[in-house]
Amino acid sequence: KEMRFRNLGPSGLRVSLFSLGGWLTFGGSVDDAATRDIMRAAYEGGINTFDTAEVYADGECEKSMGKAIRELGWERSDLVLITKVFYGVRGSAPQDPNATGLSRKHIIEGTNASLRRAGLEYWDVVMAHSPDVTVPMVEVVKAFNHLITTGKCFYWGCSAWSAEQISEAYGIAERLGLDPPLADQSQYSALHREPVEKDYLPLYRKHGLGLTIWSPLAWGLLSGKYNDGIPKGSRFDLNAGGTFSGAIASLQSPEGQAKLERVRRLAAIAEQLGCSTAVLALAWAAKNPHVSTVILGASKVEQVRENLQALHVLDKLTPDVLQQIEAALDNKPAP
Ligand code: NDP
Repeated sequence: KEMRFRNLGPSGLRVSLFSLGGWLTFGGSVDDAATRDIMRAAYEGGINTFDTAEVYADGECEKSMGKAIRELGWERSDLVLITKVFYGVRGSAPQDPNATGLSRKHIIEGTNASLRRAGLEYWDVVMAHSPDVTVPMVEVVKAFNHLITTGKCFYWGCSAWSAEQISEAYGIAERLGLDPPLADQSQYSALHREPVEKDYLPLYRKHGLGLTIWSPLAWGLLSGKYNDGIPKGSRFDLNAGGTFSGAIASLQSPEGQAKLERVRRLAAIAEQLGCSTAVLALAWAAKNPHVSTVILGASKVEQVRENLQALHVLDKLTPDVLQQIEAALDNKPAP
């Protein structure tokens, strides 16, 4: 096994630099047997950290991942398991105003329900999947700390919170002597660089905020698979009328075309380095020292194996190569 580990933000928790998530795949487009095979390939590649959420496949993702963990017979203590609450499980109680959001009620009930679905005694990390401006931040901070003191999880984090919201939570936690959110789960890739490379900058310095980053391949765009249309069976093909209809339509726009041009220029650099474009894009994201873990998504075992090759490319990203990549991307956020 060859893996690198980083601490999750300011905590002592060691997460594998690459982790595996189940959005759209586990409990969704990928059946239980394939979920188990993909998770096994990840574990064999050194991954100890796995990400899910109550809302993924309406709770089925947590169920399928929990089932795989039991079948694989892994030691619970070898794993870092992350879930996220906020969106609830649609369908279970569509009329219930407390079945979603960040009230103390949903944070605690949602976490309890997620533990039951996954068949676990505790999560390592529970994250707030979204901010909730209808709930006082002090309630949110206290509720996540309640999860920790009652043994439902060891750490907490947030996802897609603004820098201001994260700062507010840190201020409250400090004032009350409570645990702050250790990491934000943020969208970050060579095609999507804010807020990670902009608004969050003061938070790394001030608080040591960590990041568990999502869609590091920009849903697959950074593999180059969409350069010449939408391949059959790919994520964009399977979700053409749904989640990705906007993203697919925007590929025809000048902005979308510019993204594909960036991918083509990255491909040329990847070729020089002797790796795939996907692998280069993943290594580039992992090179950012503020990133605690890069959450991979995979619909096939082969994708996990390929993507973990990024570990071998990290050291090839010398300052000179990084400069070439910067020129190829030409999208560095202005300070
Ligand atoms: P990516 O951007 O890496 O997309 C992964 C998808 O790209 C795969 O499912 C596969 O799709 C395709 N792919 C992966 N590797 C390759 C390859 N080597 N060659 C070609 N295609 C490839 O990440 P995700 O969007 O899946 O996000 C990763 C995880 O992050 C999620 O599972 C989830 O845990 C988390 N997340 C969190 C969010 C949040 O709001 N907090 C939001 C979104 C994700 P296919 O084969 O089907 O085309």
